[in-house]
Amino acid sequence: MQLVNLLEKMKMDNLTGQLDALCEQAAKRDMNYRDFLEEALRTEWTGRHQKGVEARLKLARFPWVKTMEQFDFTFQPTIDRKVIRELSSTSFVERGENIIILGPPGVGKTHLAVALGVKAIEAGHSVLFLTLESMITRLTRARTENRVERQLIQFVSPKVLIIDEMGYLPMNREEAGLFFRLLTRRYEKASTVITSNKSFVDWGEIFNDQVLATAILDRLLHHCTTLNIKGESYRLKEKRRAGMFGPPPKKAEVPKEEDEEKDSSS
Ligand code: ADP
Ligand code: MG
Repeated sequence: MQLVNLLEKMKMDNLTGQLDALCEQAAKRDMNYRDFLEEALRTEWTGRHQKGVEARLKLARFPWVKTMEQFDFTFQPTIDRKVIRELSSTSFVERGENIIILGPPGVGKTHLAVALGVKAIEAGHSVLFLTLESMITRLTRARTENRVERQLIQFVSPKVLIIDEMGYLPMNREEAGLFFRLLTRRYEKASTVITSNKSFVDWGEIFNDQVLATAILDRLLHHCTTLNIKGESYRLKEKRRAGMFGPPPKKAEVPKEEDEEKDSSS
């Protein structure tokens, strides 16, 4: 069998495409057989890995893709860089641990959640991103259509499930019950990343049930890293830089109870 046929049979498409260039390079650099074989196989592997990353990125359904490298940590000094480095290694995924990112609007919760999802994808894991609202909508619709089990499996199977914006809308009992079922199924098997603008003490309101909220927190927090961001909104910083609000107010002039977000809407 000829080389190109062999490569085709073995589905080495990436190598086939690069074969001429590789051979030319090997001749120029006077490569030995072993180095050439290594280079050839690396070319195939890199191509496959890249396609895998692209496929998983599509399946993840991120609203937009932002990376850890694009995050300005000097703007959010309350975030511990060591913790971020550890999380970026994605060993939390292998251990099935959770991450909860808390903080007011605009501090980069979604950005960090997406960036961690991208790291997990690069490490070979499956990721699914959705807002709590769309997750609940899909679960309740599935229930009325008698296919809640199938829908649950779809949310249980990704190695990393990112649930964005917990706390903007309260859930009724049935919805909270479905959410609890999902978390119980993922517990200690797969990682769940949650972002929320509400601190844990207010989670009772989200679930409309203190007992259920406690049970949910119990499972989520058992193996969990919590990032509590206490900074200024990055969106406001950018608007301010564009001159929309003028210079930032001097600290001493700002009455304590007036926060940034209220300022912007008035
Ligand atoms: P949140 O989810 O906390 O409301 P986002 O993650 O949506 O905030 O951030 C709002 C916008 O600001 C996004 O475009 C995000 O990429 C950007 N952003 C937020 N914080 C930072 C940061 N520290 N460095 C770079 N970009 C940031
Ligand atoms: Mg967000």
